[in-house]
Amino acid sequence: MKYHTYSRNARGCPDNACSVAATLLVRILLVSDLHYALPQLDWVVRAAPSFDVVVLAGDHLDVSSPVPLDAQSVVLLRYFSLMKPSQALVLASGNHDLTGADAQGERAAVWLPKSRRPGVAIDGDSVVLGDTLVTVCPWWDGPQGKAALERQLAEEAPRRAARWIWIYHWPPAGSPTCWTGRRDYGDVDLGAWIARYRPEFVLAGHVHEPPFTPKGAWADRIGGTWVFNAGKQIGPVPAHIVIDLEAGTATWHSIMGDETLALAAAAAPPRTVF
Ligand SMILES: [Zn+2]
Repeated sequence: MKYHTYSRNARGCPDNACSVAATLLVRILLVSDLHYALPQLDWVVRAAPSFDVVVLAGDHLDVSSPVPLDAQSVVLLRYFSLMKPSQALVLASGNHDLTGADAQGERAAVWLPKSRRPGVAIDGDSVVLGDTLVTVCPWWDGPQGKAALERQLAEEAPRRAARWIWIYHWPPAGSPTCWTGRRDYGDVDLGAWIARYRPEFVLAGHVHEPPFTPKGAWADRIGGTWVFNAGKQIGPVPAHIVIDLEAGTATWHSIMGDETLALAAAAAPPRTVF
């Protein structure tokens, strides 16, 4: 087993059970908001073996599709079973993925736990991969879910390795990664959590337009934290971001072209695809 998974309920997890695995985490693929786009899901299945970690940052389902959500979720679970990165498949929920109520009576992606198998991390999980802690934040839809997420971050902060990566569906307010072209459409709570815990990366989605607008962005540096949002595009290949921790780069790939930045840079470079 290449990593140890624990949920926020696993308070009894002994420290030695959470020890850092020897396997280094190098290449991460980020996509989000595939919204039941089957050709794009096919592409992720094909691409996954080339990466150590594949992150789908939410909105797997599409609430506006004529296909019922329950049927979509069955298809998605099959797709997830076919995605085989070398270390971990990471699945966060988005607002389109809420198919029922959780134990607190708040809307949640109650189908997503059916994707659990070795090598898959979902809402509420953290995995240690080499020197990196990856925390999967659920889409929260009420005060109980928000409080649970705050507990999750507080409990996991002492376990952070050299690097901490959050998966969180909605980019923070005030960031160009949530600029729609007309307005700032970001999460108003996330910025304070970033300021408090300073994760190295926040991998997001939710707002489809930012990378495709001149004043928007697929990358933003907030203090020491990189926030990434690949955006959503049409066609068989999803807009996606490749993070290469060994090369120290992140590259956005899209139908508009590609852009690369150095993770050591103090800020995202000017856009080049316009
Ligand atoms: Zn979406």
